[in-house]
Formats: sequence, C-alpha cells, structure tokens
Amino acid sequence: MPEIIINLHMHTRYSDGAGSHADIAAAAMKAGLDAVIVTDHNVLVNGPAGYYNEGNRHVLLMIGEEIHGQSRNPQKNHLLVFGAERELATYANDPQLLLDAVSKAGGLSFIAHPVDPAAPSVHEGDISWVDWSVQGFTGLELWNGFSEFKPRIRSKLHAIYYAYFPARIARGPLPEALHRWDELLIAGKKVVAVGGSDAHSHKMHLGPLRRTVFPYAFHFSGVNTHLYVPRSLGTNAESDTSMILDALRQGHCFIGYDLPASTRGFQFIARGLEGIAQMGDEQDSKGGVTFQIRLPRRTECVLLKDGKPVRTWHSHDLCTYITTVPGVYRVEVYIHYLGRRRGWIFSNPIYIR
Ligand SMILES: [Zn+2]
Ligand SMILES: [Zn+2]
Repeated sequence: MPEIIINLHMHTRYSDGAGSHADIAAAAMKAGLDAVIVTDHNVLVNGPAGYYNEGNRHVLLMIGEEIHGQSRNPQKNHLLVFGAERELATYANDPQLLLDAVSKAGGLSFIAHPVDPAAPSVHEGDISWVDWSVQGFTGLELWNGFSEFKPRIRSKLHAIYYAYFPARIARGPLPEALHRWDELLIAGKKVVAVGGSDAHSHKMHLGPLRRTVFPYAFHFSGVNTHLYVPRSLGTNAESDTSMILDALRQGHCFIGYDLPASTRGFQFIARGLEGIAQMGDEQDSKGGVTFQIRLPRRTECVLLKDGKPVRTWHSHDLCTYITTVPGVYRVEVYIHYLGRRRGWIFSNPIYIR
C-alpha cells in the first residue's frame, strides 16, 4: 500500500497564525509533504482547498477546523474537525453536542492537545481537554508540538533558547497523553492517534530580537502523520481528500518525527487466520498471531500490549513476535538525536480479539 505523509493541525491569518494558505502550501511542498489540513480556530475557510503546484512538486491542501467554546474560561476542550464540510462552531459550547453534530455531518473529530500544561513565564494557560465523559470522537492528537514545548519554558530565556534551537524540543508525546490514550484503548474504545504541529509561524519580539518562531517549514519536517492508503494520490482533490479521511478514520496511520531521520517505510502488521491486519484493524487470536515490525533503520523498538511493554528490541530493523493473547498492541520506536533518546515513531494499535 502507498504511504503518504501529512501534517494536520495549523493556523493561518484567518485565526491566530501569521501566514496564508499559499505560504503553507509552499512550505509543505518544500518539506516534501503530500497533504496538509489547515485548521483555523472556529472558522471553516474552505475556498483555498485543492492541489497547489510549483515546478514538479504538488501538495493537497485540505480544510478542517479547530473548534472550542470561546465563552468558556479558561478556553479548554479544543476539537479538530475534518471532513464535516459545514460550519459547526455554533455547537462549540457543548463538546458532546459538537461531537454528535460532527458525526451527523459525516466528519472526523480528534481531541486536540489532550494534555496541554500551562507555561506561566510566557503567560500561556492550561488548555487541556477536560470533558472526558464525551463519546463518539474518532481519535486524539497524541503528539502536539506546542503541548510538549510549554512545560519546557520555565523562563523567558528558555523560550529564546528553544526559538533558536527548535530541534532540541521534541522528545515524544507527553506521558500523561499516552496514559490517557492507553486508558481509553483498554476500556475497549477504538481511538486513532495522530500527531499535529499546531503551526502558527508567529513572530517573536523581545528587545532587539525578532524571529519567526517555528516557521511552517520547520514543523513540516518534524512531527507528521504517515498514512497507508489504497492508491497513490492523483490530481483529483475531491477523491484524494476522501481517501485520506478514510485512512484517518480507520487508523491506518502512525506518527513519525521526521527531523532526526525520515520515518518513511515503517510498518506494523499482524498475520493471522484472517490474513494481514494493519494498524487500526482487528485480528482474531485463534491459531496465533505473528506481529511484524519493520523500521526504516536499526534502533530501539518497543511492542506494548494494553499500554505495557511486552518486548523490546535494542538494535533491530525487523522485529517479529508471536502471541495467542487478545489485547490492544501498539509500537513505540526511539532514536538517539542531539544528545538524547527521543521518540521517533508511535504506531496506531492492532486490536487482537
Ligand atoms: Zn488548540
Ligand atoms: Zn491549534
């Protein structure tokens, strides 16, 4: 199956970003992405959707929305909505009502930055998701660039340091976010994990220093979502968009941090009585299941069942594991980069029943 790379959470001047849709498309082509989903706050700007070309490069720009209740204080509970094709921000004040409206419109819903701690030194509040009694969401944004950054900024100096050395930020999804995801999976829910950049391309002004903090191009070389789709992208924006949304809905994807090294080529499958199951799929445990994990390079790979490691390989690029035990299995891969062990790949689960 073809693998495509998308980045799916970002803002333009229509909300609180600094760039335009054309800036995003240009940066995405430069980074070699196949598609991006623009998600401005509480506004669906679907005019700029479609393919953008430059020379022999092209990228599919899709339009979603990030919705939250603006009258709520603090403004928590942000939801990424894709494919609803209508403005749903009017439901923003009631997360369950909003989720129901997204489902009714045939859209997908991902809880944005589910764990997002405060950063008091730069006056940023905690905007985590808090209403965990809700039902019917497609998934969550397990790894969000900004949620991870905020607890690191213990002073303004830290903010400046990381603005100049952004490659030193990313280490993996916040442990609390991973824990929350595992809890939902163990409770029997199918919850698709995606990685989002939350790119804004803001300018930072601090005395004589002026700098675009984390430009779009930086984010697009960082935490991306890689999808397995039935056919390669073509030139028809409408059918390609619906194919991408289908793959997201089914969880046929993994989160890859592409800055240390490209994560393209990662595979996680389960062979069993029902043939081959890929990430997001189910497989019967009867007769045994063989997991196969293929890494783009030799490094540390952990297979987890119901949130707990069952096997770790320290320097492998092809890992296999046989089991007859039902559970939710997923993979985490780590790599050494800029002096420390960092998260590189987080797979979606295969559900063994
Ligand atoms: Zn948000
Ligand atoms: Zn955002």
